[in-house]
Amino acid sequence: MTCIFCEIIQKKRPAKIIYEDELVVAFNDMNPQAPVHVLVIPKKHIPTLLDIKDEDKVLLGYLFQIANKIAKDKGVSGRGFRLVINCNPESGQTIYHVHLHILGGRWMHWPPG
Ligand code: 5GP
Ligand code: ZN
Repeated sequence: MTCIFCEIIQKKRPAKIIYEDELVVAFNDMNPQAPVHVLVIPKKHIPTLLDIKDEDKVLLGYLFQIANKIAKDKGVSGRGFRLVINCNPESGQTIYHVHLHILGGRWMHWPPG
Protein backbone atom coordinates (compact mmCIF):
# COMPACT_ATOMS: atom_id res chain seq x y z
CA MET A 1 0.00 0.00 0.00
CA THR A 2 1.38 3.40 -0.99
CA CYS A 3 1.65 6.06 1.71
CA ILE A 4 2.22 9.61 0.48
CA PHE A 5 4.10 10.59 3.64
CA CYS A 6 6.36 7.51 3.51
CA GLU A 7 7.15 8.57 -0.07
CA ILE A 8 8.13 12.03 1.20
CA ILE A 9 10.36 10.40 3.86
CA GLN A 10 11.98 8.26 1.14
CA LYS A 11 12.39 11.36 -1.10
CA LYS A 12 10.28 9.71 -3.77
CA ARG A 13 7.86 12.64 -3.63
CA PRO A 14 8.92 16.30 -3.48
CA ALA A 15 8.25 18.36 -0.36
CA LYS A 16 9.68 21.49 1.21
CA ILE A 17 11.46 19.74 4.10
CA ILE A 18 12.37 22.18 6.86
CA TYR A 19 13.67 19.72 9.47
CA GLU A 20 14.86 16.12 9.43
CA ASP A 21 16.65 13.75 11.78
CA GLU A 22 16.74 9.98 12.32
CA LEU A 23 13.24 9.90 13.84
CA VAL A 24 11.12 12.64 12.30
CA VAL A 25 10.62 14.82 9.22
CA ALA A 26 8.88 18.21 9.03
CA PHE A 27 7.73 19.87 5.83
CA ASN A 28 5.40 22.61 4.64
CA ASP A 29 1.80 21.56 4.01
CA MET A 30 1.09 21.76 0.25
CA ASN A 31 -2.30 23.39 0.96
CA PRO A 32 -1.52 25.78 3.83
CA GLN A 33 -4.36 26.90 6.08
CA ALA A 34 -2.29 29.57 7.84
CA PRO A 35 0.88 31.58 7.10
CA VAL A 36 2.77 28.85 8.99
CA HIS A 37 1.47 25.35 8.27
CA VAL A 38 4.04 22.65 8.87
CA LEU A 39 3.50 18.92 9.21
CA VAL A 40 5.70 16.94 11.59
CA ILE A 41 5.70 13.19 11.04
CA PRO A 42 7.48 10.21 12.54
CA LYS A 43 9.59 8.25 10.08
CA LYS A 44 7.89 5.17 11.45
CA HIS A 45 4.63 4.49 9.61
CA ILE A 46 1.83 4.69 12.19
CA PRO A 47 -1.58 5.01 10.47
CA THR A 48 -3.56 6.83 13.19
CA LEU A 49 -3.27 7.99 16.79
CA LEU A 50 -5.18 4.86 17.74
CA ASP A 51 -2.29 2.73 16.49
CA ILE A 52 0.24 4.18 18.91
CA LYS A 53 1.91 1.42 20.90
CA ASP A 54 3.72 1.48 24.24
CA GLU A 55 7.01 1.50 22.34
CA ASP A 56 5.99 4.77 20.58
CA LYS A 57 5.57 6.84 23.76
CA VAL A 58 8.97 8.48 23.54
CA LEU A 59 8.65 9.05 19.79
CA LEU A 60 5.34 10.87 20.19
CA GLY A 61 6.74 13.10 22.93
CA TYR A 62 9.68 13.87 20.65
CA LEU A 63 7.28 14.90 17.87
CA PHE A 64 5.94 17.60 20.19
CA GLN A 65 9.44 18.75 21.13
CA ILE A 66 10.29 19.21 17.45
CA ALA A 67 7.00 21.06 16.90
CA ASN A 68 8.00 23.48 19.67
CA LYS A 69 11.38 24.03 18.06
CA ILE A 70 9.80 24.73 14.66
CA ALA A 71 7.22 27.11 16.18
CA LYS A 72 10.08 29.03 17.79
CA ASP A 73 12.16 29.02 14.59
CA LYS A 74 9.16 30.29 12.60
CA GLY A 75 8.58 33.09 15.09
CA VAL A 76 5.07 32.09 16.15
CA SER A 77 5.71 30.60 19.60
CA GLY A 78 5.14 33.84 21.54
CA ARG A 79 2.20 34.98 19.40
CA GLY A 80 0.55 31.58 19.63
CA PHE A 81 0.15 28.56 17.46
CA ARG A 82 -2.04 25.49 17.28
CA LEU A 83 -1.09 21.81 17.09
CA VAL A 84 -3.65 19.50 15.49
CA ILE A 85 -3.77 15.75 15.03
CA ASN A 86 -6.77 14.47 13.13
CA CYS A 87 -7.86 10.90 13.76
CA ASN A 88 -10.17 9.04 11.40
CA PRO A 89 -12.68 10.37 8.87
CA GLU A 90 -14.96 12.69 10.87
CA SER A 91 -11.94 14.63 12.16
CA GLY A 92 -10.81 15.26 8.59
CA GLN A 93 -7.89 12.84 8.51
CA THR A 94 -7.01 12.21 4.88
CA ILE A 95 -3.47 10.83 5.12
CA TYR A 96 -3.17 7.70 7.25
CA HIS A 97 0.34 8.31 8.58
CA VAL A 98 0.30 10.12 11.93
CA HIS A 99 1.15 13.80 11.56
CA LEU A 100 1.13 16.87 13.74
CA HIS A 101 -0.11 20.05 12.06
CA ILE A 102 1.61 23.23 13.28
CA LEU A 103 -0.60 26.20 12.43
CA GLY A 104 0.38 29.76 13.18
CA GLY A 105 0.77 33.31 11.94
CA ARG A 106 -2.90 34.29 12.21
CA TRP A 107 -5.66 34.34 14.80
CA MET A 108 -7.27 30.92 15.25
CA HIS A 109 -10.96 30.34 15.82
CA TRP A 110 -12.57 28.30 18.53
CA PRO A 111 -14.45 26.06 18.33
CA PRO A 112 -12.61 24.79 15.23
CA GLY A 113 -14.67 24.07 12.13
P1 5GP B 1 -5.03 15.43 7.45
O1 5GP B 1 -6.28 15.98 6.78
O2 5GP B 1 -4.83 13.96 7.16
O3 5GP B 1 -4.97 15.74 8.92
O4 5GP B 1 -3.84 16.24 6.84
C1 5GP B 1 -3.20 15.89 5.66
C2 5GP B 1 -2.47 17.14 5.19
O5 5GP B 1 -1.48 16.73 4.27
C3 5GP B 1 -3.36 18.15 4.48
O6 5GP B 1 -3.29 19.40 5.15
C4 5GP B 1 -2.80 18.20 3.07
O7 5GP B 1 -2.82 19.50 2.52
C5 5GP B 1 -1.39 17.68 3.24
N1 5GP B 1 -0.85 16.95 2.10
C6 5GP B 1 -1.47 15.95 1.42
N2 5GP B 1 -0.67 15.47 0.46
C7 5GP B 1 0.49 16.19 0.55
C8 5GP B 1 1.71 16.16 -0.21
O8 5GP B 1 1.92 15.37 -1.12
N3 5GP B 1 2.67 17.07 0.15
C9 5GP B 1 2.49 17.96 1.17
N4 5GP B 1 3.49 18.80 1.42
N5 5GP B 1 1.36 18.00 1.90
C10 5GP B 1 0.37 17.13 1.59
ZN1 ZN C 1 3.47 6.17 5.89
